[in-house]
Amino acid sequence: MAKHLADSKKINIKPYLIAAGAVILAALLIFGAIKLIGAVKARAAEKADTASAPEIAEDAPGAQTADDSGDAQTAETPSDATGNADEGGNKPAAKTPTDADALIAGYFYDEAIELLSKDGSAEAREKLEKAKALKAQLTPYTDKVYHVFFHSLIVDTSLAFDNKGHPAQGYNEWMTTVYEFKKMLPLFLEKDFILFDITDMCDIDANGKVTQKEILLPPGKKPLVISIDDVNYYDYMKPDGFAERLDVDENGNVVTIVNGKATYDGDVMPILDAFVREHPEFSYRGAKGIVATTGYQGAFGYRITDLELYSESEQKYMLDKVKEVSDALRATGWQIANHSYTHNQYWNNKTMTMEQLKYDTGRWINEIMPYVGKTNILISPFGVTFDQDDERYRYIVSLGFNIYCPVGSNMNARYFDDNMTQERLNLDGYTMMKHPERMSKYFFDPSLVLDPSRPPMK
Ligand SMILES: [Zn+2]
Repeated sequence: MAKHLADSKKINIKPYLIAAGAVILAALLIFGAIKLIGAVKARAAEKADTASAPEIAEDAPGAQTADDSGDAQTAETPSDATGNADEGGNKPAAKTPTDADALIAGYFYDEAIELLSKDGSAEAREKLEKAKALKAQLTPYTDKVYHVFFHSLIVDTSLAFDNKGHPAQGYNEWMTTVYEFKKMLPLFLEKDFILFDITDMCDIDANGKVTQKEILLPPGKKPLVISIDDVNYYDYMKPDGFAERLDVDENGNVVTIVNGKATYDGDVMPILDAFVREHPEFSYRGAKGIVATTGYQGAFGYRITDLELYSESEQKYMLDKVKEVSDALRATGWQIANHSYTHNQYWNNKTMTMEQLKYDTGRWINEIMPYVGKTNILISPFGVTFDQDDERYRYIVSLGFNIYCPVGSNMNARYFDDNMTQERLNLDGYTMMKHPERMSKYFFDPSLVLDPSRPPMK
């Protein structure tokens, strides 16, 4: 009997264990499913709110290449824009060179003169005279300030143009390749262009009054502003041969991460940094360009607006990285701009309501700006423009975004009481293949730089 009981007990334990195991497994599955549903919901909410298409250039034949179009979206309750983009200004704390030769080569004449004045050596006196002479040659520049823009560069054209993932046609029109960008730089230099900081185009007083600022340049030089839109490394680009994200190397230089490795030629920023190191005469007083980021998939490849999908340590890592990359960009002469949070179609078709605009700017100011730093530059999604008295434009300016950059092939700058607008020319496949004259008019014949691995333009 005892043996029987013992046996029956023994026999009966197994099902209990199995049942307990099943309960635990089921609980885990349910927990996982809830988490997954939450994640999918969060993503869907963002997706419905966004469109990851690059800009439509002016006159573009409506060739919207939207990856996910969110036209039907109505904004959620707008979050309050507590920050003000204009507070404290956004002049980058760019590091100036520390030796006299580098200061002179980079047009930091006052700084060179100050440094050399403290040194009584014959060599220093000679350099001091040189710096003074070069400073005296600086001439007021009254012509056009040129402004060209790119999207993140195509690193691997075989992936971008394979029609797997995002359609090749979109990339062929709106993107530029690493090959092309590297070929353009020496041509800009040869034609006397010099990188110029857009914030040095205007004086803005404490009341927000904007006036045109005098530009002094070495004779013959032409100021060039470069901007890069959508520096977000969106999910849709992942299989298509772009960098994955930005990072910073041990010397404080911004690097691109490509296939998990740090590289110096995965996007405009490290390529331009390296080119200026080699040709300091290409940058006026350390200027580089403007890096514009949206917010719906975070910034610079870090999904800081989807934090709930990540562990606590991953969240901290990503937030710290965005801050680190931003600090490194600013320290190396780059400006950072708001490119809208949503990049939603309501910007493009101008149906955007005030509620939608408040939602968009509020999220950028509250969730992106704390990590990328304050900025007064807004690079409009799709290159859209508003009338000066449009209440939406008034709201944008009231938030402190008083340098507004749409798209326009003649790169005109206009000064108003409380803001400046400057149009930009897209140096992408669309312009190079469909409107080469827009580029050759001011710069050079695009056939000199066109990547042979591009497919024919439809
Ligand atoms: Zn864009």
